[in-house]
This record gives sequence, C-alpha cells and structure tokens, in this order.
Amino acid sequence: MFYMFVFRFCSVKVGVAMRYVKFVLLFTMIMTAMTAVSCGKQMPEAAGKKFTTEYSCREDTMKYNTLSPEEERVIVHKGTEMPFTGEYVYNKDDGTYVCKRCGEPLFRSSDKFDSGTGWPSFDDEIPGAIKKETDADGRRTEILCANCGAHLGHVFYNEGMTDKNARYCVNSISLDFNREESADAAVTGTTLKAVFAGGCFWGVEHHFQKVDGVKSVTSGYTGGSKANPTYKEVCSGKTGHAEAVEVEYDPSVVSYEKLAKLFFEIHDPTQLNRQGPDMGPQYRSAVFYANDEQKKIAEKLIGELKANGYDVVTELEPASEFYPAEDYHQDYYEKTGKQPYCHVYQKRFNN
Ligand SMILES: [Zn+2]
Repeated sequence: MFYMFVFRFCSVKVGVAMRYVKFVLLFTMIMTAMTAVSCGKQMPEAAGKKFTTEYSCREDTMKYNTLSPEEERVIVHKGTEMPFTGEYVYNKDDGTYVCKRCGEPLFRSSDKFDSGTGWPSFDDEIPGAIKKETDADGRRTEILCANCGAHLGHVFYNEGMTDKNARYCVNSISLDFNREESADAAVTGTTLKAVFAGGCFWGVEHHFQKVDGVKSVTSGYTGGSKANPTYKEVCSGKTGHAEAVEVEYDPSVVSYEKLAKLFFEIHDPTQLNRQGPDMGPQYRSAVFYANDEQKKIAEKLIGELKANGYDVVTELEPASEFYPAEDYHQDYYEKTGKQPYCHVYQKRFNN
C-alpha cells in the first residue's frame, strides 16, 4: 500500500512529491526491517503482495539494469526471497556471481557452500565488493553491493560452518551468474541435465534416446504444484504439471543447444496447451531451464523460429522438482515396438 501511495505522488508533481517519497521510503524501509526476518525463517510478506512496475522516478535505478517488481522488492526495498526458491540455491557450477543491478562481480563459486538454509551461501567475498552495514534491526549485519548499494542479504560470523567461519547469506534474486563457459566441456565424465515438455512424453523420450551423447532419458512430471503426482492426477490438468522428459547428457559430446534445437523439431511449438490429439495444460510446450545459460539459448532459438515464421508458444519456466513417471511410461515405444503417434521430426531451423 505504501508503494501505491508513492506512485500516486510520483505521477503528479515530482518536485513536491520527492519529500513525501523520501519520507515514505524511509518509513517503508523501517517497516520492512521490522517485519523482515533473518535468513533461516520465512518472510510472511513475500507471498501474494503485488508491487507495480511504475516505480521509475527513483534516480538511481535509471542507470542500472531494469528490475522486475520482485527484484525491486528485494534489491531496493531490502526484502527477502522465500528460502529454497532462488535460482542459485543449488547451483554448483563454476563461475562468478555478480550484482543483478549493476553487474559488479561479488562472489566466486569456489567460496560457495551448502548451508542448508535455502539461500545461496558464501564464506568469502571478492575483495572490496561488499559493503557491510548494521541492519535497521540493530542486530544483524546487512550486506550490500559496494558499487551500487543493492541489498544482497546478511552476513553471519562464528557459526562454525566453514573454516573461514563466515556465512554471506544472499538472495538469489540479487545475483546474476556468469558461468565459466569451458567448464562443462573440459570436465570429462560429468553429465548435465535438460528438461523439456512437448506433449506426450513417450514420443519426446523416444527421439532424445537416439541422440549421441545422451546418457539417459526419463519421462516424468514437472512444473506443477503437487509433490509426487500420479499420471492420473497430472491427466486431470489440475496439478499444473507438464508431461516432460529429463535428458541426462554428456556436454563434451552434445551441447544443450543441439538438444534444445531437436526439441523444437520433434514437436510442434506453435500448439498452445496441446500436442496433436492430446489436449490440456499438461501437454504444453515448455523448456524448463536450469540456469541462465539454458534460458538464453532457448530464447535465442525461439527468436530464430519466429524469424522463420513460426508463432511459437513454448513457455520458458525455471526448472523445479522433476518427478519420474510410473515405470510403465518409461521406454514406452521401446517396450511396445510402436511408433510415436504425434512426434515426427520436422526441420524448422535453417541449419
Ligand atoms: Zn551493484
């Protein structure tokens, strides 16, 4: 509500309004600090509250990356994301974590550790990258981007979690991750995962199983609300899950881009919530990306398809829990000797 109040003023007379804005902002910060809780507990205001994107009159957001309302809630208004929901909680890839707002490098993957708190945790910072201030609660130590002042989270000491005895508890949403590109190809023996939904998983699985470099393909359910859903529940279309496949592959043999391309050529990405005769949101076309790199590749490919005249409806959804389907769904075409009824390869890219 306070935010709405601010916007009204912003849209009227900026000169007069700025004093109100400052006052309301200060008040909001104090209120937020009072209701905010430390890493390790949930923040009640995180769910359900709506923030508008019209908050553009604040000077220092202008020269940085544009923030979504949720990013702004955390980064500007010092909010806290829900634990175990952030993009980088489980990220173990090699690379550098940078400030979402200004791009300044903040943490190295080599200093990341699993604290079990649900937030990305580091026991050290890139020297000089982090500003520390006593939190508005007078108790914790807030950490901010030293370059732009973006709120990152808090730092805790003497918990004995690592040798360095520090835990920088950071909101994923305050960060971007720059992956070391050569990392996955250089390491032999590692496999990576890619999750795609393109209608009935029998046919999608069938095509991916034939690709060189693919170690395994599992049919399952993802992107919904219920834990351990059954086929019957997913079929109802009410759980929000999509029939999907989890492809485990060797990145030194086949790239994510090649797999994603194949995905777009073995199903029809222009059909909304259906695939051939199968209708319903559980048959939606979706890429469940595990990191920013996968997301960017998928976006690039969708752009290419659109340029080729395809009205692509494929959704990009962040990867969430993947539930393997019942045994009788696995390797369906291999077991039955039948041929896929609605997944036929069709070339859609130029090369
Ligand atoms: Zn920054």
